[in-house]
Amino acid sequence: MSSETSPAALTDVARRGLMLVLSSPSGAGKSTIARTLLAQVPGFELSVSVTTRARRGSEIEGVHYHFKSQREFEIMRDNDELLEWAEVHGNFYGTPRAPVEKALTEGRDMLFDIDWQGAEQLREKMRGDVVSIFILPPTMKELLGRLTRRAEDTPEIIQTRLRNARTEIEKWIDYDYVVINEQLDPAFSAVRSIVEAERLRRDRRPGLFDFVAGLLAEEPN
Ligand code: GDP
Ligand code: ADP
Ligand code: 5GP
Repeated sequence: MSSETSPAALTDVARRGLMLVLSSPSGAGKSTIARTLLAQVPGFELSVSVTTRARRGSEIEGVHYHFKSQREFEIMRDNDELLEWAEVHGNFYGTPRAPVEKALTEGRDMLFDIDWQGAEQLREKMRGDVVSIFILPPTMKELLGRLTRRAEDTPEIIQTRLRNARTEIEKWIDYDYVVINEQLDPAFSAVRSIVEAERLRRDRRPGLFDFVAGLLAEEPN
């Protein structure tokens, strides 16, 4: 990665972080892509959602989600502690507000693995900060195959998620970018390219004003 997009360069100037939103139907691979991004691209922090869903065997409290009772969730929501929230596949999910505001003002980028309802709310509230990517599966058959091979959910839950996939896929049109996750490597490379380009956008680089002023003040002879 070039020095220009290294974490030091990102935080040196009074830069505001961007909000990268990944959405997809369940099983399309957004958590896998999110994990790879966090491991390989510096400068990202994951927004850890609160959820009323039961913890899967592989999940760790505070790492994958903050697992809450319905009552605890409602208290957070009513105290305006959630930047957005939605009911997805019969459970409640929400984005804690405080870590997002802290990361963005400190110039760090945030990654969100949230559904289309959450993406819609963030776009309304945070406008220019949001970059959204919709991840599509190559086929519906492969989507079912991935949900089954992941082996984390009961057959009933898998059927609910597959049923909901069609409504979710119809939201693809609202996203800035669309990536088809057939093979993981090219899908991840596409996401990485999007991040690199978005980080280079002029309006996210206030430090350029000083740089250009310095450039113009220079006398080459
Ligand atoms: P997955 O689809 O296999 O990743 O299953 P999950 O149970 O982890 O997520 C269920 C749904 O909730 C997905 O569509 C997520 O994108 C969505 N989701 C997760 N966290 C949030 C959040 O903080 N806010 C919103 N609005 N949706 C979320
Ligand atoms: P989501 O977060 O969208 O529900 P996951 O990231 O959990 O999806 O992926 C669902 C399953 O599919 C996981 O078992 C994951 O290892 C697998 N998977 C993800 N991407 C690919 C791919 N490109 N090819 C094959 N399997 C994949
Ligand atoms: P899972 O139960 O498989 O972890 O997630 C199911 C869906 O909920 C996924 O599409 C995931 O992106 C979404 N989700 C997870 N956390 C949040 C959240 O905080 N807000 C919203 N709106 N959706 C979420």
